[in-house]
Amino acid sequence: MKIERIDVTHHRLPLDPPFRASWDTRPRTEFDATVVRVVTDEGLVGIGSGDTMLGFERHAALFVGQNPLDLDRHNRVLDNLAFHYSRYWPLDLALWDLAGKILGQPVWRLAGGRSDRTRLYASSGTLRGPQEMADAALSFLEAGFPAMKIRFHRGDWRDDIKALEAVRGAVGDRLTLMVDCNQGWRMPWDTERPWSLKDALAVARELETLDIYWMEEPLHRADYAGMAALRDAVDIRIAGGEMNREVFEFDTIIERRCLDVLQPDAALTGGIGGLKRIAEAAVAANLIFTPHTWSNGLGVAANAHLACGAGNPPFLEFPFDPPEWSAERRDYMLSETLAYEDGWMVLGEAPGLGVALDEDRLAKTRIG
Ligand SMILES: [Mg+2]
Repeated sequence: MKIERIDVTHHRLPLDPPFRASWDTRPRTEFDATVVRVVTDEGLVGIGSGDTMLGFERHAALFVGQNPLDLDRHNRVLDNLAFHYSRYWPLDLALWDLAGKILGQPVWRLAGGRSDRTRLYASSGTLRGPQEMADAALSFLEAGFPAMKIRFHRGDWRDDIKALEAVRGAVGDRLTLMVDCNQGWRMPWDTERPWSLKDALAVARELETLDIYWMEEPLHRADYAGMAALRDAVDIRIAGGEMNREVFEFDTIIERRCLDVLQPDAALTGGIGGLKRIAEAAVAANLIFTPHTWSNGLGVAANAHLACGAGNPPFLEFPFDPPEWSAERRDYMLSETLAYEDGWMVLGEAPGLGVALDEDRLAKTRIG
């Protein structure tokens, strides 16, 4: 079997009302997605999504005519392209989906087979007042989620703490709570400085008193010494890595004991092939590997298979904050929204990533 062609299409979903993401200073009025399809000479199709794949058509010949199952070879070529040109990791996801379909196996098994399921944490995305945050937490509890992640970015972190206290007051110990400080993340137009170690330490000490499971991205992604010092200074778990773009950065993070929880996203860094090794190294070092998944439903599915197969984390990120961030918005490229029950996502035995595209929707939303 050979790769016959690679199709890349671009799509745009209008967001009305807009989505006010806590990590973006501009309200979002549209949600773009790029879909990659790898097609074989026998008509099988693997699908992936994530980065924009701009300029990829110049490099497709490096894959056309190759055996689709040579996954490590393809991942190395993509790594070379990431150095010279751009990040084309959605193609790696599509190749793993295709490999699963060729072999009749789900990707979680090909990635290591540690588990076919994971508990989910509801990952909120918008900043609400204390009472509204508490109401959202109660609704997640009612829906069966065992955990919830809360965003910090209200300008003064003491206001963030007030929202967190309201949530803890409402749910008691019935929900595990994480906090995302988003200090490593910046949109291109956002020039705000990240926290220093002293800033992060003051917040971490407050979070300890509220029994927070992890503190995410308290420092810039390159501040390895700061992360290690913070991790040593407090009892709370320190999470991060969603903005580290090279796979080898995670070797350093593990070696220097910077983080308790590693969160690279296969759609943005390394693909499933590149991060499988990091997941195994994290598990060997007794650290948690649980990817960032905030791209779209296809990205959530790919990271879920990687996480379950290679890392078996205690919780996986489930981007969900209705009404602003609904399953329908997140998964608009998929034929069905991602299934979950009682706070669990069960990946099952469907070959590949186990999700299908909504071709009608994609035709209607296509912009390139
Ligand atoms: Mg994050």
